[in-house]
Amino acid sequence: MINTHTHIDFKEFNDDREEVIKRFFDGGGEKLINVGCTLQSSKRSFELARDNENIFASAGIHPHDADTVNEASLKKLEELAQHYKVIAVGEIGLDFFKNSTSQEVQIKALKLQLELAENHNMPVIIHCRDAHNDLINILKEYKTSNWKGVIHCYTASWKIAQEYIRLGFHIGFTGTITYYKDKSKLGNEPEIYRVIKNMPLNKILIETDCPYLSPVPERGKRNEPVFVKYVAEKIAHIRNTSFGNIEKQTSENANKLFNL
Ligand SMILES: [Zn+2]
Repeated sequence: MINTHTHIDFKEFNDDREEVIKRFFDGGGEKLINVGCTLQSSKRSFELARDNENIFASAGIHPHDADTVNEASLKKLEELAQHYKVIAVGEIGLDFFKNSTSQEVQIKALKLQLELAENHNMPVIIHCRDAHNDLINILKEYKTSNWKGVIHCYTASWKIAQEYIRLGFHIGFTGTITYYKDKSKLGNEPEIYRVIKNMPLNKILIETDCPYLSPVPERGKRNEPVFVKYVAEKIAHIRNTSFGNIEKQTSENANKLFNL
């Protein structure tokens, strides 16, 4: 399994980081990408990647901290991005749910970091909440196809997913997909099941976003990288295929997209 979105540099792992990493690799984990969300966490992600063969890093500033994107921080991100173990720019994006910084500041920070990725021909890891139309419009300003990247922790509709796929993006799924009942009282399936069923297999990635969003049956506890197996299991269940098939295909997808 390749877990394409973890935050094991966070303080939640300060007491047992080495064991958490070991549990992932002992439990069927092949590679993981630790995702930067501030300049500091991008540096820590880089250090984890530098010191562990099968850990890779991304460098970027999350929309929550968009007001820290400036010439100086961009220059530092660019320096980190030169290292061969830093394989993407992210996580970047828009969060109009939390609005920790103004929408104007978020849009500016996103554009500057999209340009960084373009200049270095790197894939992007994108966080988007309550801002899909704005995000899609911004992406289309740059190009209307052949984007390299992932819309991470996807929870929106199949209609929106198709827009991203047309642009070239992969879609990343986290433990949130395990939070639903298979069918409602009316017999309907959750929309996210429709997304997962309809997705082209070569565009699916699995992730945890740990320490957050622990999948069932670990929901409510601290999330950790090895729990990505529950995400793969759920996708296999929804698509009526084997765990092995999802594991193999999502690993191929991650290797190819991020050139791991
Ligand atoms: Zn994240």
